[in-house]
Order: sequence, then structure tokens, then C-alpha cells
Amino acid sequence: MRNAWRNRFLPRRLKRRLRYRAAIGARATSPTWSDPPEGPVLVLAPHSDDEIIGAGGTAALHAKRGDKIEAAIVYDGRLGGEEGVDPDALVETRESESREAAARIGFRDIHFARSPESASTVREQDLRWLGALLEALRPRTIYLPSPIDCHPDHAMTNELLARTLKEGGGWTPTEVAAYEVWSPLIPNRLIDISGTIEIKRRALASFRSQTRRSNIDGAALGLAAYRGARHGRCAAAEAFWVSPPERFIEVWSSVKWP
Ligand SMILES: [Zn+2]
Repeated sequence: MRNAWRNRFLPRRLKRRLRYRAAIGARATSPTWSDPPEGPVLVLAPHSDDEIIGAGGTAALHAKRGDKIEAAIVYDGRLGGEEGVDPDALVETRESESREAAARIGFRDIHFARSPESASTVREQDLRWLGALLEALRPRTIYLPSPIDCHPDHAMTNELLARTLKEGGGWTPTEVAAYEVWSPLIPNRLIDISGTIEIKRRALASFRSQTRRSNIDGAALGLAAYRGARHGRCAAAEAFWVSPPERFIEVWSSVKWP
């Protein structure tokens, strides 16, 4: 997560949210409770920490069940540091924090593209990187930030997956499951993570370079509590908008930005 973009993009965010609601239609207004889908699964994240904020509790459920579960981090995270921190050192720090969190969750492996942040296009090498990961893991479900998540790198991660699925010619997942980091989404699937919320809490604590800057761990745990209480069933939940790949590409095309 990074802070500066939040207020700057508010009007655009509202417009995108309206287009998103129109694109996904009324079906998403009645979310269903579900167990995690069958593995293998890939959690695609823009920055180190998004994979746990958005889907850490669900990932831990996958791992407990023995599913093959891997994470892929797109951006190098060098812009997300405290003042005076060396950017090259920060890249290493954030990767090591993600590895620590992955071990706590039970990810089988974690991959880093080290793409430069704030890019306005998707790099060809990142398309090849993600295409190769999909071919190797053959995930049934791919998790990623939702198409309306309010951060440019999160938007470009949607563009990266949409283009990989359209142009890659390789593995196609059964479904794409969008998670929430910066912006609450309109879910169609809820997963009870009461049994793994403590694992998620410990995994979030790995991201010391980020939790020193803001209360991202408190925000993620608060959102899980909200999802559990709002939908009236449990102490903690994660919310997703799940669609077939072709539907994901269609919705992303209708709301895409910048
Ligand atoms: Zn992020």
C-alpha cells in the first residue's frame, strides 16, 4: 500500500465504482459463504503485503488443506519506504518480509518480478514472467486486487493479468477472485477466516517496514472483522468478487484506468 494516491483519485474512484457496479450487475449483491475453492491457487499481489492484506486468511485455509499455493509480487516496492531508507535495501527488506509472511501462512513458493512502480504500461517481460508462472503452477483460482482497488499499481496488476490471459496463449484458470486492499468491493463470495485470523495477524506483523509507516495491519484486521459482522456470520471474513476469466477481462476493460 502507498498513501499519496488515495485522496488524489477520489472523484475518478467514484466514477469507476459506478461503472463497476453497472458492469458486475445485481448478481453480486447477494454474496454466498463458501469454503476456499480447490487448489492449486496463485495469489497475485502488486506489492509485498497486499497478498496478506487481501487474501491472507483464505491463503492459510488453502495451505491447511494441503492445496498447492504460491504468491507472485509484481512491483519492487522501492517507493514505499520511510524517509532516509535506501531504496535498494528496501527492495530486499520487503522481499524478505514477504518470505517471512509466506512461511507463516504456508505458501509453497513466492516469486518476485521486481517491476518499477508507478509505470503506465505493462512490461513485456512481466507478461512473460506471469505467463510462465501460470504454465508451471496451473492455478485453478487466481487471486488479485479488485478492478476498482484505488491505487495505480493495483490497477496495472489487473491489466497485467488481463493481458496475460488474453495474449499468453497458455494456462487459463477456472476463476479469478478479486480481493480488497484500498477499496471495499461488492462481493459475491465470502470466506470465514475466523480459524486463521491469528495466522493472518502474525503474517501481517512480518511487514515491519510498512507497519512502522501506517496501521495497515490494524486496517486489514478491522476489515476482516467488518466483513464477518456485516454479513452476520462470524468473527472474521475475507470478501471476494469471483468471475470466470472472460468475465474478469470484460469488467476490467469497462473500468480500466489510468
Ligand atoms: Zn499495494
